[in-house]
Amino acid sequence: MTEHNDQLTFQNPVTRFPSISPPEQHQPEPGLDRDLEPKTDRGEHSYRGTGRLEGRKALITGADSGIGAAVAIAFAREGADVALSYLPVEEDDAQEVKRVIEASGRRAVLLPGDLSEPDFCTVVVERAVEALGGLDALVNNAGRQIAVTDFADLTDEQWTSTFETNIHAISRVTRAALKHLPAGATIVNSASVVAYMPPPTLLDYAATKAAINNFTKGLGQQLAPKGIRVNAVAPGPIWTPLQVSDGQPKEELPEFGKSTPLGRAGQPTELAPAYVFLTSPESSYVIGETLNVNGGMPTP
Ligand code: NAD
Ligand code: MG
Repeated sequence: MTEHNDQLTFQNPVTRFPSISPPEQHQPEPGLDRDLEPKTDRGEHSYRGTGRLEGRKALITGADSGIGAAVAIAFAREGADVALSYLPVEEDDAQEVKRVIEASGRRAVLLPGDLSEPDFCTVVVERAVEALGGLDALVNNAGRQIAVTDFADLTDEQWTSTFETNIHAISRVTRAALKHLPAGATIVNSASVVAYMPPPTLLDYAATKAAINNFTKGLGQQLAPKGIRVNAVAPGPIWTPLQVSDGQPKEELPEFGKSTPLGRAGQPTELAPAYVFLTSPESSYVIGETLNVNGGMPTP
């Protein structure tokens, strides 16, 4: 990516980023940003902070790559210290995000581990609290997506594993975090446009994303009186390692994102302002909202 305009520069959204045609490629799950072709834009060279998260302490899951990495970089540029949760095999990607955060003058705490293990969901929160000296922002963004063409081939094992990672872990991490979150704290969950438009190849994944949306709206009401706001972001087709580690049928990668009204896939950094807005105190009256960032696809 050669685009270095910051996100506040007046520009045409159609051409802000090129319309990519990714070559057919495959990586073992979870996939690395390091090996993705073409490279993604996570805002390393462009995201400009304006002090919207000054002094905040954030835990972001799936923060080594893709959308989570872009959110971590943006949060740091906005003045937050960040704890990054990711899988141990993603250490190289996590180290790169840490480097960018530290170059932005903020702290990055690395917390590798598997969120599909119930105990780790508590451990990761406790470690983040200890290292950051508290916690006032949680971004539940980790997720897995494995496309299966025929429902008859969708094993019980995959169904369960997708639910463990995508929604059970959110419930466990959030419950562990609640003990520490002060009034003013925020939770933002990564849902998806597939919550409303389930692709026929992503039945288990889409069902978890609908659940995340619903959970966000319910918990948002419960925590509002305590001064803790819960919201969601629902991305459309964003170019990340999720897509090449069986997230899409390989042969569909060259067309990825082209059917959106903008005519191109989104870049991870285009998601970051939505997470920043929902985490910043400026969104004080926004609760249980799902902010759709999807290149123009209509949503309910
Ligand atoms: P990504 O692969 O860069 O990020 C997903 C991350 O989830 C991985 O980096 C990994 O660290 C984490 N993860 C997966 N399984 C885990 C486990 N068992 N324990 C701990 N961490 C685990 O891909 P992304 O596209 O940036 O995905 C981020 C979120 O955005 C996901 O929730 C995804 O469902 C959602 N989303 C993505 C798109 C898209 O088009 N890329 C669209 C809608 C929603
Ligand atoms: Mg990753």
